[in-house]
This record gives sequence, C-alpha cells and structure tokens, in this order.
Amino acid sequence: MRMYDIIMKKRNGLSLSDEEIRFFVQGYTKGEIPDYQVSALMMAIYFQGMSKEETLTLTMEMAKSGDMLDLSDIKGIKVDKHSTGGVGDKTSLALTPMVAACGISVAKMSGRGLGHTGGTIDKLESFEGFITGISREKFIDNVNNIGISIMGQTADLAPADKKLYALRDVTATVDQMSLIASSIMSKKLAAGADAIVLDVKTGSGAFMKTLDDSIALAKEMVSIGNGAGRNTIAVVSDMDQPLGFAVGNALEVIEAIDTLKGNGPADFVELVMALGSQMLIAGGKAQSQEEAYALLQDTLTSGSALEKLAEFVKAQGGDEKAVYDTSRLPKATIIREIRSDKSGYIHKIQCDEIGICSLILGGGRETKESEIDLSVGFVLTRKMGDYVKAGDTLAIMHANDSVKADTAEKRFKEAYTIAEEPIQKPSIIKTIIS
Ligand code: URA
Repeated sequence: MRMYDIIMKKRNGLSLSDEEIRFFVQGYTKGEIPDYQVSALMMAIYFQGMSKEETLTLTMEMAKSGDMLDLSDIKGIKVDKHSTGGVGDKTSLALTPMVAACGISVAKMSGRGLGHTGGTIDKLESFEGFITGISREKFIDNVNNIGISIMGQTADLAPADKKLYALRDVTATVDQMSLIASSIMSKKLAAGADAIVLDVKTGSGAFMKTLDDSIALAKEMVSIGNGAGRNTIAVVSDMDQPLGFAVGNALEVIEAIDTLKGNGPADFVELVMALGSQMLIAGGKAQSQEEAYALLQDTLTSGSALEKLAEFVKAQGGDEKAVYDTSRLPKATIIREIRSDKSGYIHKIQCDEIGICSLILGGGRETKESEIDLSVGFVLTRKMGDYVKAGDTLAIMHANDSVKADTAEKRFKEAYTIAEEPIQKPSIIKTIIS
C-alpha cells in the first residue's frame, strides 16, 4: 500500500477502505509517513469529506493508536464532558466541581488551545504550581479520593490524534466535521468514561459556524459514542459571541470562581446547568432535569462546589488559596477600557476575532506553553442585543505590552457590528441530541 495512492483516492472524492485508514494512522503514528503527505491527505479530506463509515474507522484507529485507559478502579459511573472549542469557554472549571460535589466521578482529559479557541489546561495553569501532567495512578487516586481529576492528553493516549491535531492546527484543516468528530471521540473513547456529555458549539467563535453543521457534528459524535457502547449526549450551544464576559486564562478562572459563589453571568450559568443536568442524569444521580437542577443549585448555595474546586486544585499541586482570594492569580499591568465609536445595538461580535485578540495579547499561537501570558484578555461589559452610546465601554482589556494592546484594541473594535435597530439576544442552548 502506498500513501500516494491513498492521497489521490481521497483527492478524487472516493471512499478510503478500513485498511487504507489503518495504514495511514499507524504509519503516521510510528513516524513512517511524513508530515507533508499527511497534510495533503488532511486537505483532501477537508474538501472531499468522509462518509460515516470512514469517520468511525478513523476514530477507532486513532483511539487504538495508544493505550485505552482502564477506569475500572474508579467506583461508580464515570462521566466525561468535552467542548468542541470556543472563546471564553471556561465551562469545565465551574461544571466539573459542581457535578463532583453531587457525587459524580469526574476523570477528565483536557486540551490546550486550538486555533482561536482557548483550552482548559492553559486556564488551570493560572493556579500557581498546578500540575496537569500527573501520572495515571495519581489521576485515578484523586478521582477516588476527591471525585475529580483533570489531566492533559498524555503521549500514550490517542497519540495519532495528538500528532494530527498539531498538524491540522498549522495547515488550516481544523474545521472539518469528520476530522473534529474523530479527534474528539478518539480521545473520549481512549479516556475510558462510561458516559460522555458533549458541548457542541455553533457560531462565529466555533469551528462549525452554522447551526445545521453543528447539529450534523453533534449527531455524528453521538452516533460514534453510542456505537462504541458509551452513553453519549450532545448539547448544541451558542458561540456567536464569547461565553460569559471573561476571555483569557486567569480572567476566566475568576469568572468560574464567581459562578461557584453564585454570581455567574446568566448565559454561562444556563449552559453549566444544562450540561451538568445531563451529566447527573447519565451518572444516575438524578432522574429528571428538575431534580438535577436542584442538586446543582445546592452546590452553589452551600459552597460545596467552591470547596471541591479548592480540593481539586490542591490535589494537583496548585495554590488552592487563590480559589478564595483571586488576587493571587496572574495579574496584568495595563488595564484599559475599550470604548464604542458608535451608538446603537450590538448586532454582531465576530467571536473568533475576539479569541485572536486575546492570543495577540498573550503572545500568539506560536508562543511556547511555558511562556503564554496567562494574565491577559478581556472582560466584556456589553453583549449582543445590548444598547451602547458612543464613548460607552465595550470591554476592559488586560495587557502587559502596549504595542500588543494597541493592535488588539483596534481588531477588537472592528469585530463589533453596531446598528440602530434593536435585535433579540441569542439563546444559549440550541438543541440537545441523544
Ligand atoms: N477539539 C478537539 O479535540 N479536536 C478538534 O479537532 C477540535 C476541537
């Protein structure tokens, strides 16, 4: 079998056989097929797509390319959650301590940012000392002892996805439905949870820009998960503007902590409740949405979710005092108001642009993980549908470099469309697929 023939077959719009998919996944993982040939294949897939059968085979081959985690040492039903990626998406930071405080075992693998989107692993590193590269034994122990652990994708978990993910990030082949579905589901299947709740984003800050495409992606992932014997549910949620108000690692941690204290932004709380209730139902802790909402709400009013976050941060070596005193988190030196040039209603916020502005402040996508500036970003003060007068504040920018701040401010303002007619605010939950 030759990689050349596989690329040509896909370029010409034909379906790849199971053997051909296995050949390139195994060959690429072992380093026997070069990046340039796999890049060409990714671009051919980007334009020609993959059938359901091809996507399922690709998912299973990537899942099997490394170790499949065995979570049988963890008691109870293990429920995982994954987002397809967005801007201001700090959902896992608030949601996982809430469901863990309800008695669900959360054993979660998370990623770093991809394209214009942020990643949970970067956000968690805002806690000084926090270790995301813990051993498998420590991961399982933490889940058994405190009900929650989050680690980065290890080299031996779906290594084929790890390599392909990095390659797609630099070859403009991220936003393809089959590639996203197989990337996410290969990791979720390898990570071993019994049930999986997916947050599929839709809109200008998501990889899938239209609702139809996002629903198709959600259905594809649900069918892969259920087909592999894992109870899989997808919530399709709005990403036409940043989630909540905060965008940027430490700023999002602060917003998640505020949410656990009962002071979260309405759209964010609604999403966390919707995902959390699916997790509680899948984990057998609640029979209905109403029952799940009441249990989740109780973790906020009693403070048990906030305590769970502190326990989790401490167990992974992080500064848990920052949960109760957020002034201990990284802080920027330049705090600047970004003001509107126009009066009117906010019709559109080009959400991927806001993610890119945050990346500009932090040093850009090429910045080494250890050098990402975790303190920078934006806190929006107004969102879609809100009225602004010329000179009103749109957001507060947190920066450490005035040249980067000037560039980011200009692009940030250009991302807004403001017009005279009032518009309705977008709903956060679009649909649920199971
Ligand atoms: N998240 C992933 O894990 N993979 C993708 O391809 C996109 C988002």
